[in-house]
Parts: sequence; structure tokens; C-alpha cells
Amino acid sequence: MLVLKFGGTSVGSVENMTHVKNIINDGTKKVVVLSAMSGTTNALVEISEQIRLNEKESALILIQQLASSYQITIEQLLNDSVLIKESQEYVNNVFTNLIELVGSEHTTLIYNQIVAQGELLSTFLFSRFLKQEGINAALLPALDFMRIDNNDEPDSFYIKQNLDRILNENSEADIYITQGFICLDVQGNVSNLQRGGSDYTASIVGAAIEADEVQIWTDIDGFHNNDPRFVENTTAISNISFDEAAELAYFGAKILHPQTVIPVKDLNIPVRLKNTMSPDSYGTLITHHVHGEGIKAIAAKDGIYAIKIKSARMLQAHGFLKKVFEIFEKYETSIDMITTSEIAVSLTIDNPLHLDAIVEELEKIASVDVDQGMSIVCLVGNNIIYHEDTPHLFQVLQDVPVRMISYGGSNNNISLLINTDQKLNTLQKLQGYVFESQQEKAVAY
Ligand code: ADP
Ligand code: ASP
Ligand code: MG
Repeated sequence: MLVLKFGGTSVGSVENMTHVKNIINDGTKKVVVLSAMSGTTNALVEISEQIRLNEKESALILIQQLASSYQITIEQLLNDSVLIKESQEYVNNVFTNLIELVGSEHTTLIYNQIVAQGELLSTFLFSRFLKQEGINAALLPALDFMRIDNNDEPDSFYIKQNLDRILNENSEADIYITQGFICLDVQGNVSNLQRGGSDYTASIVGAAIEADEVQIWTDIDGFHNNDPRFVENTTAISNISFDEAAELAYFGAKILHPQTVIPVKDLNIPVRLKNTMSPDSYGTLITHHVHGEGIKAIAAKDGIYAIKIKSARMLQAHGFLKKVFEIFEKYETSIDMITTSEIAVSLTIDNPLHLDAIVEELEKIASVDVDQGMSIVCLVGNNIIYHEDTPHLFQVLQDVPVRMISYGGSNNNISLLINTDQKLNTLQKLQGYVFESQQEKAVAY
């Protein structure tokens, strides 16, 4: 069986929902994971924020605006009066509950309950639409099987057991629809897999049912060789390995939630990226196979903090790095990049939650400088550190102040730490150098 996940744009309009219907209605049984309609999760986050700030008036206005947009969607999507009535009741109930939260004390649970509504709405409406179109689909509530554990990791045993049971109970259905993103936590409260988490839901479900393939249907024709939001003339990559995709997703390639490949990689379940608006385009196939040599793709991740830890005591002293790492471990803060010299070590983190406490402890053993507003630019490709073109990279980057370089940590990755205000320039320069023709290169440099 296949698992197909459709993102926000793919379910963001009646026209696109019709594309989705046509893609999934091919007579084979499948699980379909849906995101919220595009814009909805952002709107819900904003509603939650206004409730947190106790800005009742603006929270109510935002709720009202979102509610009206769903009434319009119902009018455009459905023409069967019973299905319209059922959908209106569902939508009214969702928004009445949101209104009741205005004025209440804001907690993480309230936030989680609010942002969960997007996927609940999209799947409800889409399942009604399929019913109207005579398609035999069952709506499986993700909260009946999707659960994370104490470490916020998917509880694979629980998920598999419950999903198998629910699929069996609904064996007469041709298509199973479920919500991406949302799950329960160990206490049984509504939680989620973080922003963009519907991709992760799809691969968790794919692993649980040992799917033949997990397909991520989105608004672009596959994994591009650079970030199309910032760089022109990027192109789709036909084949990429699990490790390459994981690294690029971790370092900012928004097309995939960073954890997407983890559940399926060991089971060798391929992940295919496809464009809902252009289903005939090949897209990208992610497998164990490694194709090509040299730089394959570039991604960038913002919000990075660089920490320089400097101590004369580092000179010929063993055990210094151990002490440094123990402090990060104590605060459960992972380090992305690291470079060392004889008297200093520089490293980066992307989670500043415990930064003050970390700095306070580090200052007991060293002097510490923190730079924020940094970005990591990550270059990925098979054997890039040995590729003949790679040394020229430094020529390209001569105008860019690079704060740190990680080269040789693996054969397949080079990371650069730069100021975020240099990101656009760096990505564009690299695009010109790495991917455009020799002739264009000659003109550009
Ligand atoms: P969905 O709502 O379908 O999950 P996302 O917005 O999360 O879609 O991801 C798709 C978007 O990711 C694309 O429209 C594109 O702007 C962005 N993106 C960033 N980096 C890449 C990349 N390397 N390849 C393709 N798309 C990328
Ligand atoms: N709707 C959620 C978000 O916008 C999850 C997703 O789209 O993958 O983050
Ligand atoms: Mg996404």
C-alpha cells in the first residue's frame, strides 16, 4: 500500500482539492495524509498568540475571518445539501470552541488544541467531498493511533498496533484519510510533530504499515538543488539518498520536515516527492542509492547562534572539550557545527532555550562570546570534499565573510556559517558557481 501526503497548497483551494481527488482515485487502496489548508495553521498560531496576549478583540476578529473563509470553502466544494449541513455544523463547532478559549489562561495545551484544528478541518471537508464524488473513503482520526513518547519521538509500537487495528476495522474502504501533524502526547493530550510535521506523519504511517512507498505531494516538482524561495533557476533533482535528503532538510530545505526520512530509511521504503499541480513531472525519488559526484544541493538554515569558547587552559589540556560538551548535554542542547583551534572552540546551536544557563556555566571555565543572527549554508553531495570543483568554492566565497567552515566531517557535506544578512548573496553566488553552465560561470566570475 502507498502513503500519500498532500501539503497545504495541495488542499488549499477547491481546484487543488480536485487535483488531489483525481490523483488518489486510481482504484488502489492507499492512506492519504492531509495538512491544513494553506494559511490556516499560521492563522491559528496568530489566534493563539492573541489569546496569550489577552487581546480578546483581535483574537475574535481573526477567528471570525477564518470561520468565514471555511464557510466559503464549503459553498465552493460541496453541492449536496446533507453534506453541506454536516460540514457547516462541524466548522461552526470548531470555531465556537475557539471563541470559548478567548479570555482563558494560555498554556501549551491550549496552543496545541488550537493549531490541531487546521488538519481536523481539512480532513473533514475533504472526506465529505470524496463522499459527494462517490469515492469510498474512511476518515481515520490521527489521534486514535498517532502518539509521541516522553522524548517527543513517535511511539512506534503503539502507532503500529492501533493503526493495524483501525485499518482492519475499516477494511471495506478504498481510501483512508487521516490528519498529518497532530498526535497525542504521553499524557493523552493533543500535541503535534512541530511545524511542517505532516511529512513526518506520512513517513511514520509508512513505516507502521510497511508501505511500498511514501509520497509527499506538494507545490513544487521535487527537491531542488537550491532554495527556490531565494534563488532563481534552481532545478529539481531526480534522485537523492536518504542521508542527503535528511541533511538538507535538517539544514533548512523546507520541502521536507527534518525528521521525515528517519522512520522509513532503515526499512528501505522509498520517499517520492511530487507536484500536485503537475503530476506528470518526475519529481524526486529518495532511496538508499547515491547518485553522482560533487555538489548536488544547497540549503540554508537561519536562527543560528555561534558560541566562541576561549581559554588559555585549552592549550595542551585534555578533557577541556569534554567539559564543554557536558554542559551542552546537561541542557539537552545539540550542537550543529564545531571548529577548534589551540585556544578556542567555536560551535553553533539552533535552540537558544537554555543559552543563558549554558553561557553562565561555560564562563566558569572560559571566556565566552555569542553571536546571533547567523545562518548555516549546507552543501551536500557524494564525495564533495574530494571533488575537483570543490576547491574553487573558496574563490566564489571570497567576498563572503565566512565565520566558520566544517569540511571533512563527512565526505558528503560542507557547512559554512555566515551572517544571515549574507545568506541571499551566498546562496545566489553558489548557484551561479555550482549549477549554472561554464559559460555563465565565466561571465559571473
Ligand atoms: P507543503 O505545504 O506542501 O508541505 P512546504 O511549503 O512545506 O509545502 O514545502 C514546499 C516549499 O518548500 C516549496 O514551495 C519551496 O518554496 C520550499 N523549498 C525550500 N527549499 C526547497 C528545495 N530545496 N526544494 C524544493 N522546495 C524547497
Ligand atoms: N499544518 C502544519 C503546518 O503548517 C503541518 C504541515 O503543514 O505539515 O506547520
Ligand atoms: Mg511542508
